[in-house]
Amino acid sequence: MNQNFYPPVPGQNPDLTELREIIVGLRHHLEEERRAGFEGWPRSSSSAAVERVLSPTGLEAVRSELGDCHRCKLSTYRTQIVFGTGNPQAKLVFVGEAPGRDEDLQGEPFVGQAGQLLTKIIQAIQLKREDVYIANIIKCRPPENRNPEPDEIAACQPFLIKQFQAIQPRLICALGTFAAQTLLQRGEKISALRGQFHEYRGIPLMPTYHPAFLLRNPNYKREVWEDMKKIKREYDQL
Ligand code: URA
Repeated sequence: MNQNFYPPVPGQNPDLTELREIIVGLRHHLEEERRAGFEGWPRSSSSAAVERVLSPTGLEAVRSELGDCHRCKLSTYRTQIVFGTGNPQAKLVFVGEAPGRDEDLQGEPFVGQAGQLLTKIIQAIQLKREDVYIANIIKCRPPENRNPEPDEIAACQPFLIKQFQAIQPRLICALGTFAAQTLLQRGEKISALRGQFHEYRGIPLMPTYHPAFLLRNPNYKREVWEDMKKIKREYDQL
């Protein structure tokens, strides 16, 4: 294969560069076959697995495109960007609102008190934090934890979408009103949205109460448990 066909990414392992070249070559070949009328084999779990091999590179590419982001005013307040954490091939992605103080300092989503509760919620369905991916609608802490503003959401949204495209999750759990309303583009309260799967870009999405809300209102844990059981039922069938 032409060495210049796909330029190596600076700092990338040469084996990975070669793997990317092979994959790009395969894609071209499949594209030519498709144009010639070949409709392909039925999609199997092994072809899905091959696509997933690309995922870590995909997520890293999103992170490097984000760079030292100054696309909105939140960059002037933050300590660091909180990109997201977890399994780059996760079948289940949790999406919260925005980093708080602890997350801003540590650079990881959901590491404060609400995060500890989220970890327990994940464990309650026999998963570990490392099995899933955790991100937020907004990647920089708003000052005094105020609600994110429309221009901030608009600046950040393309990167969350690219993270989804890289991970290719099969299920999404939106934590709280803000994440649910933003992803679903709906205005209803979380109490009306939760409890059933909605669709986000073809992916089943379950809204549920935010763990920070649960810390203040522990009576709502029962509803979250009901939502998590539905997620687990779907997850086990993937
Ligand atoms: N609340 C959120 O919505 N996200 C975090 O990362 C932490 C707290």
